[in-house]
Amino acid sequence: MTETAYPLLGSPLKLGPRTARNRIWMTAHATLLVKDHLFTEAHIAYYRSRAEGGAAVITMEAMAAHPTTQPYKGKAFAFDPRMVPEYRKLADAVHRHNTLLLAQPWHRGRQTNSVTNGLPVWAPSAVPCAVYREMPHVMTTAEIAELVHGYRLAARYAREGGLDGIEVHGSAHGYMLNQFLSPATNHRTDAYGGSVENRMRIVLEILEATREEAGPDMIVGMRINSDDGHPGGLGPQDWADLARRFEATGLIDYISCSQGTYVNRMLIYPTSPEEHGFQLGATAQVKAAVSVPVVGVGRIVNPDEAEAALAAGQCDMIGMARALVSDARWGAKALSGESRRIRPCVGANWCMTTIFAQAPIGCIHNPSAGQELDLDEDSVTPAARPKRVAVVGAGPAGLRAAWTAARRGHEVTLFEARDELGGQVRFWAQAPSRRELLGIVDWLSDRIGEEAVELRLGTRVGAGDLTGFDVVVVATGSRGQKHGWTAVRPQNWAGPPVPGADLPHVMAYTEFLAAGAPPARRALVFDAMGGRQGAVVAEVLASKGAQVDFATQLGQPSPDLAASRDWGKVHGMLRRAGVRFHVDRELAEITADSVTLRDLYTGAAETISGIDRVVMVVGSTAEDALHHELTAAGMDSHLIGDAMAPRRVNDAIREGELIARKL
Ligand code: ADP
Repeated sequence: MTETAYPLLGSPLKLGPRTARNRIWMTAHATLLVKDHLFTEAHIAYYRSRAEGGAAVITMEAMAAHPTTQPYKGKAFAFDPRMVPEYRKLADAVHRHNTLLLAQPWHRGRQTNSVTNGLPVWAPSAVPCAVYREMPHVMTTAEIAELVHGYRLAARYAREGGLDGIEVHGSAHGYMLNQFLSPATNHRTDAYGGSVENRMRIVLEILEATREEAGPDMIVGMRINSDDGHPGGLGPQDWADLARRFEATGLIDYISCSQGTYVNRMLIYPTSPEEHGFQLGATAQVKAAVSVPVVGVGRIVNPDEAEAALAAGQCDMIGMARALVSDARWGAKALSGESRRIRPCVGANWCMTTIFAQAPIGCIHNPSAGQELDLDEDSVTPAARPKRVAVVGAGPAGLRAAWTAARRGHEVTLFEARDELGGQVRFWAQAPSRRELLGIVDWLSDRIGEEAVELRLGTRVGAGDLTGFDVVVVATGSRGQKHGWTAVRPQNWAGPPVPGADLPHVMAYTEFLAAGAPPARRALVFDAMGGRQGAVVAEVLASKGAQVDFATQLGQPSPDLAASRDWGKVHGMLRRAGVRFHVDRELAEITADSVTLRDLYTGAAETISGIDRVVMVVGSTAEDALHHELTAAGMDSHLIGDAMAPRRVNDAIREGELIARKL
């Protein structure tokens, strides 16, 4: 047997009638790899790779327990008999690796709208949800029975499909059963509202139906919260009490804890810099109330944290979703002495952003996530003919290209003008809340260090320096603009800059961050893009003591953060730091010590005085000149990442991987 630094993490655990081979549990999360409500090959490959990669238990993504919930085509219907053969295929794939597979029937209750299916939203009471704000239909007792029957069907088909268990959901994250359980959202006066016994009634009916269908040989568990995380919601003691009552039914084999509702979604999918293991205190309160195994989650990212949580008795199983999105082989690496090779979840929530865009799940620095069939990280083919490869630029694109090219047997030289690796990722990590992003650079740097890549730091190269190479990968990144015109005036994009943009205290965001973010007394950030850049620059300035004004042409600052779900969190942080926002504004003029903003809709001008630093986030230009020179000189040159078109870290890394596979 392999020696392990994580004896608890590697130890088996009995889950009712079955045994988990270790303590690693992949908790449910949307993948959008389901098509037309059925699994796809990509979906099976996604879970198979996590089973092979060491997860002892996998709870598949939540599935609709009734047609009134989540009808879009990227979701499976747990009440549909067509799931039986689908389950079989998936169960075969993961059972080969001795991994247990569970289905998770659920209903969103009020936390949705009727846009996709035209059906009224069902909820225990007519209380609209903070995110969707649609008035729900108050469920009748007949409809409650219908929903219970949906859960019953889900259990039946899970059994017929050869799954190992069922995790009853809807009872955490503010979904339907959580809505019944919480007095904040259940105002009923019938047998399903009022006392705790009444509020629990629907859940007990579902548990009974589930166990009846599952029989004694399958695992039946529940997903609950350990804290709703909003005033008037259920707190840790309430949940501990409910857990005790659920266990007392004798119907369940385990409890999986999470936190949050749509009132505070940052507890459900917390981004960096949330404290790792932040839910474990409340999870431990639930665990103290029950004797069935308890699964804990919440930014548990590395095996040291996991082992510590088990050693402290805060939970019995380590639940992870994003950590296993980031590295499918997390468990195998942790338990075979390879934990330093785990690619860490950096809390960027690119996975959530992909789902928000209705795209298959992705990861900011694991290009294989959701692409296991086409882009398996561990299978690269040796190059037919090793070439002398120059990679120019050691941002995420260049680092990834150099790593995979070297893995394929090419002779790789990586040139970087700066004295350190990481490109713009290092810029972003200057913001206190974005420090974890350095995990992207560290992981890639370590991989480069394992290969025979010749590293030439502090070396800015031109076309003339590259004549001895067979092929060049140009990953030279992008440069922020500082013309100051906004996207609402595209005709001016190439026109004259805003008056004063050439003053020495005016900088583009890349220039500002590359210079180590020189401190200012009073700064203005002008953001025309609405992404994270503006928020990061404002945070960096404020963290260095500046009074910051943040102006944007948009109707709200940094709206794109809604996709990673941390809009409220970032804005809370910026507001606490005293940042003042100006929306629907364009830059009219900059002087040595003032900035004039113009209201987009009224034309009214407003001057802010005393400004000693202006940072512009108004778009970037691809640094592609080297590529064009090389191509003109007849060299084999390939453009990737921001140098192709300024975009996101995940694009840079994916393109680095793809080009390296082609060389
Ligand atoms: P990407 O996200 O596409 O990887 P980045 O902007 O993060 O792009 O990184 C680009 C890197 O390329 C930067 O670290 C920059 O210093 C480097 N670079 C740009 N031009 C040259 C050059 N001519 N020679 C060497 N390095 C360069």
